[in-house]
Amino acid sequence: MNDFSAMSQQSLELLQRLVRNAAVNDGTPDSGQELTSVRTLQAFLRDALEQPGVVSEVVEPHAGRASLIARIPGRDPNARSLCLLGHIDVVPADAEHWQHDPFGGELIDDEVWGRGTIDMLTLTAAMATVFRHAADPRHRPAGDLVLAAVADEEAGGKYGAEWISEHRPDLLHADEALTEQGGVLLRPESATSGITVGVGEKGQAARRLLITGVPGHGSVPWGSRNAAGIAAEIVLELLRNPAPPVVQPHWASLVHALQLDADLTERLLDPARLDGALPALGPLAPLGHALTRVTVSPNILRAGDKHNVIPGTATIDLDIRVLPGQTPEDVDGLLERLLKPWADCVRITGDQFSPGNITPTDTPMYARILDVFRRHYPDAVPASVIGPGGSDGRFLRPTGTNVYGFGLFSKQIDVAEFRRRLHGNDERVDVESVRLTTTALAEVIFGQR
Ligand SMILES: [Zn+2]
Repeated sequence: MNDFSAMSQQSLELLQRLVRNAAVNDGTPDSGQELTSVRTLQAFLRDALEQPGVVSEVVEPHAGRASLIARIPGRDPNARSLCLLGHIDVVPADAEHWQHDPFGGELIDDEVWGRGTIDMLTLTAAMATVFRHAADPRHRPAGDLVLAAVADEEAGGKYGAEWISEHRPDLLHADEALTEQGGVLLRPESATSGITVGVGEKGQAARRLLITGVPGHGSVPWGSRNAAGIAAEIVLELLRNPAPPVVQPHWASLVHALQLDADLTERLLDPARLDGALPALGPLAPLGHALTRVTVSPNILRAGDKHNVIPGTATIDLDIRVLPGQTPEDVDGLLERLLKPWADCVRITGDQFSPGNITPTDTPMYARILDVFRRHYPDAVPASVIGPGGSDGRFLRPTGTNVYGFGLFSKQIDVAEFRRRLHGNDERVDVESVRLTTTALAEVIFGQR
């Protein structure tokens, strides 16, 4: 057994243990309890953390919300440093809707079952395994190698990457970083399939709409200015009138990598015809929609608190996501235009804004990732994609770190299947994907053998 296949087996076993730890983050401060998985990783890495020069630290900004950050000094202080950024928390799972225990980490028919196997414990386990190997003085890479196994990604990183980047940026400092969401084939049946490399993500702008109606007695509704009714009209308006599409380079990269017929490709790259062409993408249509515009999702509605009173006020909380380069003015302009018919009774509140972010692709690390991908899928075509949601990468990109979404999945998990399992029921990963992810990561760090 060579080093890389031994590492794949170690990743697999570590993955099972991380799934069983059930670090479930439901967004409340006391959930997650990632300290359990930090302890698992410390035990797994015990010898590595004691090697000369290796430093490690556990931060715990809230009881149990722990992250482990460790650094191996490189052989050459001038070589570029790399941070392996993996989260250890997972989203909740409702066992009733699963075929197998979501926290069993069972190996069934060559698949590891459980919450987090796709998002993102497989990659986190591979990162820890490869880091352990790199700590051996015989295997040291040229540049510093950082392992950041962090809490709270699934609720925005307040107790994880966000906290660390604000309070201890020294720990994460690196020229390059690898994190989740890459290495997925778009069309596994084709030898020239596209394969994803994450290069960025959309940003967020949360807004709340305050709606003012006229309260009254619920027994006489006719002609009333019911705030719940106004809210309902607004919700439908927002869902039925998406923002007009914008074609950015990441979208063009994805469309080309999909290798569709010439006519469909042309329509998908033409803002005037894009929306009409989206349904032809089938299960990828919602993703295509999200990657080409500001999206507005009315997710929380509140109105009324008494059975016999017509509500005089209502609120709608909007989850708004912006593309890299889009601004708060873009968001406010869109909302003002859509809400014009209700201008006399709706007020837009909130100014939260975190911009979308993107990493360039003309870098040695990007080229290295593609080389490694092509070793496993020789004719695959790169698709440099952005994520519609956020990941911890957004805390590192603004500091100048080149962050790429990595991983390497087998032909069993195409991009539609990947998205189905992400936060979905029956999340699981095949053993081949664990092997590919571990091997590819080792190849990025140690070179190919
Ligand atoms: Zn994730």
